[in-house]
Amino acid sequence: MIARVLFPFVVITIGSFLIYFFIKGEPSLGILPDHTGYQKVESLGQVFTVYPRTIKEINARTHESIKSLKKSIESLILLSPENLNKDNLLYAFDKIAAYFTTHISLCHLVQLTHPDEKMRAAAVEVTTQCEALWIDLVSSNESLYKMFKHYADDSKNISELSDAEKLYLQDIINDFERDGLHLSEDIRLEFKKIAKELVDLCNQFSLNIAQDSTQLYFSEEELSGVSAEFKHGLSKNSEGLYKVVLDYPTTEMILNRCEVESTRKKYFQAKDNKAYPINQPILEKIIGLRDGMAQLTGFESYAAYEMHGLMAKDPERVQTLLDDLLPKVIKKSAEEFKLLAADLPSSVVLTKDKKIKPWDMSFLYNYHKKKYYQVDELALAEYFPLEQTIQGLFNIYSKFFNISFEHLKDVNAWHEDVSLVVIKSPQEEVLGYVFLDLFPRSNKFQHAAKFSGINARIDKDGNRYPAVCSLVCNFTKPSSATPSLLKYQEVSTFFHEFGHALHSILGATQLSLQSGTHVKHDFVEMPSQILEYWLEDREILKLISSHYITGEPLSDELIESKLHQIKFGRALFYDRQIWLTQLALAFFAQGSKKDLQQLEKEYLMMTSPYLEYDDTTHFYCSWGHLTGYGSKYYGYLWSRIIACDVFDTINSKKGLLKGSIGKHYAALMLAPGGSQDPEKMVKDFLQRDWSQDPFLRYIGLL
Ligand SMILES: [Zn+2]
Repeated sequence: MIARVLFPFVVITIGSFLIYFFIKGEPSLGILPDHTGYQKVESLGQVFTVYPRTIKEINARTHESIKSLKKSIESLILLSPENLNKDNLLYAFDKIAAYFTTHISLCHLVQLTHPDEKMRAAAVEVTTQCEALWIDLVSSNESLYKMFKHYADDSKNISELSDAEKLYLQDIINDFERDGLHLSEDIRLEFKKIAKELVDLCNQFSLNIAQDSTQLYFSEEELSGVSAEFKHGLSKNSEGLYKVVLDYPTTEMILNRCEVESTRKKYFQAKDNKAYPINQPILEKIIGLRDGMAQLTGFESYAAYEMHGLMAKDPERVQTLLDDLLPKVIKKSAEEFKLLAADLPSSVVLTKDKKIKPWDMSFLYNYHKKKYYQVDELALAEYFPLEQTIQGLFNIYSKFFNISFEHLKDVNAWHEDVSLVVIKSPQEEVLGYVFLDLFPRSNKFQHAAKFSGINARIDKDGNRYPAVCSLVCNFTKPSSATPSLLKYQEVSTFFHEFGHALHSILGATQLSLQSGTHVKHDFVEMPSQILEYWLEDREILKLISSHYITGEPLSDELIESKLHQIKFGRALFYDRQIWLTQLALAFFAQGSKKDLQQLEKEYLMMTSPYLEYDDTTHFYCSWGHLTGYGSKYYGYLWSRIIACDVFDTINSKKGLLKGSIGKHYAALMLAPGGSQDPEKMVKDFLQRDWSQDPFLRYIGLL
């Protein structure tokens, strides 16, 4: 938990004059000056002061946060060991940690989304400084560790704790020990040095990806097959060539639809060389240092070090799962590949040994989808205009989760695209606020994620502290001719990311660091992945779709075609997921020096034997998960398997819009946040151990 809180899951609409006036006024330091306690948003106006808005504010808050952290830790370690109790130790620590890490999370968002370069630079400096200080004052503080240990070793103390408090204490001690505090002083010093260096390297790695400014230029002919609307949104250079960048919508458009092989190849190679070579030595250094860190603390590998205390427990359990799954998935993907190879469009030629070239994979898959599954993604997107889709999601989630939504636009946040969602209980109590920053722009975080802000809490008297978080996505922008029309995959991403936000909002706990998504890392995707399956239900698809011109929902035929289509290619997709999972495990297996490209190639050949590897590419240099998730990338697959099982159970009771089932699900799976063991939560809900079978059925096996 101590290390974990530093890497919050990046993991993401009032039109009131009063608010506007409030924001336009002289900015105060916002909500954070109450640095003596947990932050609480008391009114709508305060929400806009949660995120720092000026460099002065970033610096002043940093000064306050650091002063407060130093003072609180100093007074904590002065307590006499005999006088320790859960209030002056557990809750006092939680308060300090919540305050300080909230500041880091908020600056983290500024770093990755703010349009002003100087704001981003200030935020980078602050997050680096604060993370290093946290390691100095907390993670490597032997006196603090000894206090927790002393307290935990007395069974009388333990008997006074609730199960949630016991888990909190155990997680803290585990984290201290993973930081080597139970080891000798010279090892601790070495560990501290490495940990600080890693903070800088990981920040730099992410920044190099976010700031990659690769631009490619293509003629009209070279973009043959790309939609006219998309080209309309592109700028041209003086020679009349279209400028394209490496964001999600462009990648999808070119690799799925461009009929010119050389364009796909050029684009793919640029995409899979993003942040290369700049990130190559940085990643090699990260891998070496992480291995050193694991060795110092007595773990066989960094993967073993990372999985200690998680749901999976150790890399062997994950490897067993992969070894079990891979042959089954490959059996199915071989069938899927055979179908693809049986009908190649004119611009796709297999290699001599009958493999698909990597830049042709998405195009070929999309060609088949269009030809045999009769769904044109752009035609389908016409039924998902952003505004109506957001409203549709609210309608569905309000029924299942028994909550209401208010979407406020024209709010004065960090960019004009940003809006705010206010979420309330049936009793009109505000449960949380979600900022939506949904469109791509230069220098913005290029994936889709939820960013933590203020954690949801319930204090001892039952008062609720609403959560504040943000969803940062990169959805298709409106064009001059059409509103933002979301592709099915983007709708699914939105359901997923909103699932993280709801986890943050509904998971209000007494201890802030157990709130919402502060769960075991390999469980965190379950509550978001499960909501993707709602979109595979006919009734839900009717409810959420609305043609942007006619307002008509999707026809029964289109729904059947789409459901038929999305089942195709699942095994091919999970081959890739197993490849990524296996790659992350291999990068962080025992050993400080590794041939990264060779591993990338070897595992690709093992998991996707039908796919050619392109030796000129270095995908891992732009794989942002390697720093935040590390070897724990397996969590996506792990929690996907659990999500399938839980969804299957809800669906078998026809419960997708049933408030009674939603209430039970939210109470057992979301409300506890990280205050319970996820293995127990899942078992309590299912009334049995989780099984792989629903997942195997999901990919077309069994
Ligand atoms: Zn997620």
